[in-house]
Amino acid sequence: MGVKVAKFGGSSVADALQIEKIRKIIEEDGAINYVVVSAPGKRFDEDSKITDLLYLCKTHIEHKIPYEQIFQVICDRFMAVEVNLGIDLDLRKEFDIIKKNLEEGASADYIASRGEYLNAIMVAAYLGFDFIDAASLVKFDEKGRFMESLTDKTIKKELANHEKAVIPGFYGSRLDGSIKTFSRGGSDITGALIARAIEAEVYENWTDVSGFLMADPRIIKDPKPISTISYKELRELSYMGASVLHEDAIYPARVADIPINIRNTNRPEDPGTMITAEPAKLEEGQIITGIAGSRDFTVIAIYKSLLSSERGFIRRLAGILEDNDITIEHLPSGIDTLSVVLSNKAIDGRLEEIMDEFDRQLKPDHMEAFENMALIATVGSGMSFRPGVSAKLFTALADAGVNIRMIDQGSSEMNIIVGVENKDFEEAIKAIYDAFVF
Ligand code: ASP
Repeated sequence: MGVKVAKFGGSSVADALQIEKIRKIIEEDGAINYVVVSAPGKRFDEDSKITDLLYLCKTHIEHKIPYEQIFQVICDRFMAVEVNLGIDLDLRKEFDIIKKNLEEGASADYIASRGEYLNAIMVAAYLGFDFIDAASLVKFDEKGRFMESLTDKTIKKELANHEKAVIPGFYGSRLDGSIKTFSRGGSDITGALIARAIEAEVYENWTDVSGFLMADPRIIKDPKPISTISYKELRELSYMGASVLHEDAIYPARVADIPINIRNTNRPEDPGTMITAEPAKLEEGQIITGIAGSRDFTVIAIYKSLLSSERGFIRRLAGILEDNDITIEHLPSGIDTLSVVLSNKAIDGRLEEIMDEFDRQLKPDHMEAFENMALIATVGSGMSFRPGVSAKLFTALADAGVNIRMIDQGSSEMNIIVGVENKDFEEAIKAIYDAFVF
C-alpha cells in the first residue's frame, strides 16, 4: 500500500481532545506518514482562531496599542494543550523568540505563520513523528511568487530523510529566508504540495464536515452529500463559492493525479467526498453533481449594431478592465450584444468611471448596468450532451418566479451559470435543487 498524506484543519487540532482524535485516526490507518497541520481553530462558535489572534497582535503593535494580553491568550492555549496531551516541550523558549521578533517589527506573514509552526512542533512530539519546518520546504521568489518546481524538488529531497513527519501548513519562505504565507486557509495547499511531491496514494483533508454537499446547508435543509466529484467539477463549484477546500489546493493534486479525500475528524466512519480525475459517479437518475453561487456581481450589457463584425472590440473592452485591475468573471455574448460580468468587489465603487470609459472607447449604441446580481452555477459532467437539462433548469426558475438576467454555459457543457437578482438568490438555489435532486 502507498503512503498517505493527511492534512488536519483548524477545528481538527483546536484542542487536546481533537488532537487525541487525530492520533487515533493516524494510528488506525497505519499508512499516514506525513501530516500537515493548521493552527488551532475555533473550539466553539464564539471562540477565536489562533491565526486571527496572531494577526491581531501585529495590528495592535502597528497602532502602538498594548498587545501582550492577546499574546498571552495564544500562549495559554498552546500550554493548555501541551499539559493535557502530557507532552513536555520547551514552548516558553519559542514564545520568547516570537515575542522578541514581534517587537522588532517582524512581518505579518511571519507572525501569522507561528500558529502552524507551534502546532506542528506539538503534534509531532505527541505522535512521535519528526518535525519539519515548512520554511525549508515551500519556496517563494523575492517578489513572493510561489516557486512550484523548486518546492517540489525540495520536498522530495527533504522528505526522503524522514519516514514520518509533521509539517506546518500555510507558509513557506522566500529565497532570502523571510516567511511568506499563502492566502487564508492555505494549509490545504501545503498538504497538496506534499502529496504531489511524494506521489501519495491519497491526500486526505480532514475537517469538520463529511465532505462536500450538493448545496449550501444554510439555504437547503440537509442537502445530499457528494460522494465523488472530479477536480474539474470541484473547481467550478469552489470558484462559485463552495468552500471546504482552498481552491488552489486542487491543482497540485490534479497534476499528479492524486485523489483528494475530504474527511470529518469528528465522524471518521463517514467516507467523505472523493475528488478524482474521473467525473462524479452518479446515482440512477442523478444529473447534476452540485449547485453553488455567490452574490454581488454587476452585469454590464452592451448593445452595438454590427458588433460581431467589429475587430478589436473585446480587446479594447478587456484593456479598459485590465487598466483598472478588474478581472472578467464571464463574457456571454449574442449577435450584436455582449455582457460583461464583474464582481462588485473588483469594481470597488468605480462603475460610473468604467462605463464612461466603455462609452468613450467602445462607442456602443446602448449600455445598461444591472447591479446586485447573483450568479448560480449548476455543475455536473452528467449534464453534458444530455438534452433537456437547461429546459428543466429554466422551467424550475420560471415556476419559482425568478427572473433570469444572464445565462452562460461553459464550453465544457458541465456548468450552466445563471445570473439572477441578489434578492432571488436563495429562492433560485432552492428551485434548482428541488428540480434536480430527489
Ligand atoms: N491558519 C490559517 C488560516 O486560518 C491557514 C489554514 O488554517 O489553512 O487561514
